[in-house]
Amino acid sequence: MDFELPPDDDPRRVAVREWLAAHPDPTDRQLAESGYVAPHWPKPYGLDADPIHQLIIDDELKRAGVRRPSNQIGIGWAGPTLLHAGTQAQKDRYLLPLLAAEEIWCQLFSEPDAGSDLANLSTRAERDGDVYVVNGQKIWTSFGHIAQFGILIARTNPDAPKHRGISYFICPMDLPGIEVRPIVEMTGAHTFNEVFFTDVRIPVENLVGEENEGWSLAKVTLGNERVSLSGGGALWGLGPTVADLLELIRSGGGLTDPVLRQRAAMVHVESEILRLIRLRTVTAAIKGEPPGPEASVRKVLADEHGQHVMALAKDLCGAEGMLSEGDALGGQAGFWHYGFLFSQALTIGGGTGDVQRNIIAERVLGLPHDVDVEAGMTWAEARAAAGGAR
Ligand SMILES: Cc1cc2nc3c(=O)[nH]c(=O)nc-3n(C[C@H](O)[C@H](O)[C@H](O)COP(=O)(O)OP(=O)(O)OC[C@H]3O[C@@H](n4cnc5c(N)ncnc54)[C@H](O)[C@@H]3O)c2cc1C
Repeated sequence: MDFELPPDDDPRRVAVREWLAAHPDPTDRQLAESGYVAPHWPKPYGLDADPIHQLIIDDELKRAGVRRPSNQIGIGWAGPTLLHAGTQAQKDRYLLPLLAAEEIWCQLFSEPDAGSDLANLSTRAERDGDVYVVNGQKIWTSFGHIAQFGILIARTNPDAPKHRGISYFICPMDLPGIEVRPIVEMTGAHTFNEVFFTDVRIPVENLVGEENEGWSLAKVTLGNERVSLSGGGALWGLGPTVADLLELIRSGGGLTDPVLRQRAAMVHVESEILRLIRLRTVTAAIKGEPPGPEASVRKVLADEHGQHVMALAKDLCGAEGMLSEGDALGGQAGFWHYGFLFSQALTIGGGTGDVQRNIIAERVLGLPHDVDVEAGMTWAEARAAAGGAR
């Protein structure tokens, strides 16, 4: 880590402050039009900001108490993919409302038989004149019930090897033939859905990139997903941090139980390691170096760290933690209780912990391939080939 944020009188800081003075209570649309929502995006959607400029903007918005619009899948994953491969018409139509969270997006990737092995997907899109007719089922579609658009991958050539023959679409969620069914999580919240497609007619102009070339775009989306899911808070960059938990412990008089003390120290050490890994990533970006192995390593560590923090919070509630959502943690136990239940999802979404470890083993440590995915062998096939021994 070898950088410092520029001082208070840096012209880029002054520019943000002047804008904030002129817009003391900015709307989501004003923030989107200013370029401050995703400053690293190219103009006119962003500001072409380098990493230091982004950190300055983050710092100034935080100081002013300004929150950016919330549209996780739109801004985090759909937008970067449209910037990468969308037509100018698609960028003009979708990017600004997406940045302003006026149109919410969802991700229509996973299927009952295609999760880790996503290229195994079987939802079909058949060209019929100036539309694609889509049939199939998606699952685990976060925000599908409130989204106006989804990024959809579907098979357009069933005869091609499975990583080819997939195409990438912008799918309006109000098209006839789309049925969204809720899945209620064990947290009690409804975020996920099943989405069924029956003869859904998606206009040809909603194809992103070339027909049958969607797998490479899906990889662009997934790359952004893994980075987005590895931010500061304990729950995929959101929610409380270990510092919040330690503050609660201190304000409650500290810990005497040696095992709990040890666990509190452990989560603090983990969070410091994660902070340093994040700073390394920022340093590499500032030097113009490509992201190193840190991103994959960080996702594995951050997901398990989130589970450790939430489990400790739950255990600190003692017996009350088992019986109720209680208020044994300074009146915030409801949130920690939700976090504890949700934290089980951290090592599944955005690539499971096992799959991340495979990536680290193969691409970082240079170990031999686990499963020959390029040759089209699924995990289940590999397991069968190994006599179910894995
Ligand atoms: C909170 C959350 C939000 C999500 N939101 C979305 C969304 O908006 N849109 C969307 O499309 N999907 C979404 N998903 C789905 C997510 O992408 C999948 O759950 C994930 O890819 C795993 O797929 P699967 O559930 O089918 O598990 P499987 O792939 O069936 O895995 C089952 C088990 O086998 C292991 N396994 C599989 N392959 C390997 C391998 N090669 N080596 C070692 N172990 C292996 C896994 O680690 C896991 O333990 C979400 C998931 C979560 C938890």
